[in-house]
Amino acid sequence: MPQATLIDGKAIAAELRVQIALEVAGIKAARGLVPGLHVILVGDDPASRVYVASKEKLATEVGMNSVAHRLPADTSQGELLAKLAQLNADDSVDGILVQLPLPKHIDTGAIIDAIDPAKDVDGLHPINAGRLASGKASGEHLLVPCTPLGSMLLLRHALPSLSGLEAVVIGRSELVGRPVAQLLLQADCTVTIAHSRTKDLALVVRRADIVVAAVGRPGFVKGDWIKPGATVIDVGINRLPDGKLTGDVAFAEAVEVAGAITPVPGGVGPMTIACLLRNTLTAFKARRG
Ligand code: NAP
Repeated sequence: MPQATLIDGKAIAAELRVQIALEVAGIKAARGLVPGLHVILVGDDPASRVYVASKEKLATEVGMNSVAHRLPADTSQGELLAKLAQLNADDSVDGILVQLPLPKHIDTGAIIDAIDPAKDVDGLHPINAGRLASGKASGEHLLVPCTPLGSMLLLRHALPSLSGLEAVVIGRSELVGRPVAQLLLQADCTVTIAHSRTKDLALVVRRADIVVAAVGRPGFVKGDWIKPGATVIDVGINRLPDGKLTGDVAFAEAVEVAGAITPVPGGVGPMTIACLLRNTLTAFKARRG
């Protein structure tokens, strides 16, 4: 049986970080300026602590000024808003990311709304989401959510052209499904967004040249749903009872049918932080020239 080409997100992300590091070094040498990424963590959720530490480490590695603000779990919404106002006003701060989820007593929407859209490196502010949905903003200056941006970079790596291809996105979350679908549309794909109410999902997926799975259910997309030769981007990160990470696609089956596929781990995951760094550079260039 033919085996799909593996899309090596780990290597592609490492390459992207090298490019970013070169650009950051060039800016520093020419202008004495360093892009600044500030990540805010409220509370001590173990997974969030790990994510914030990785973001801090990789931002430092590419030469950025990387600052993590670790606030106690009982930080009030007012205190968090005051912190954001301070970072919004600070010219040396190019990117602001509030690690989600926030503790329940804080209104996440109000916090995202309070981030300066020009510094919103998670791309979740309604102004940035609206720009993406309008299709009017140019990609170069757009702050797009990191996981969707990373998924698109992997697709462009795997496929010479996306124009005219049938793409099916499974999942319609604000964080992944919707922005991925907008980006695919901008790339001239014919896009279907599937979700929990979609009828006969297998049939819908079977017509796709590109499948993006963002469901949050281990092994949900079966091999016989995949059109032979299709490109499969598995966004899912699910932890199994034995502690192993697995995607939303039944990988062992799908790898026999697909043309190219991302593994989990080592596919979309590493691209997310690399794209956060890329967004920080994009925000720096848009604001500070
Ligand atoms: P989410 O907010 O829970 O959204 C899941 C989506 O899947 C929803 O739109 C839901 O449909 C849909 N869905 C659920 N059951 C379904 C079914 N039986 N058939 C069809 N659609 C179904 O999750 P998310 O934040 O988008 O994340 C999705 C996955 O990506 C998770 O595994 C998450 O861990 C992973 N993720 C990975 C990264 C990364 O860096 N690689 C980043 C973010 C997320 P409804 O809208 O109808 O409920």
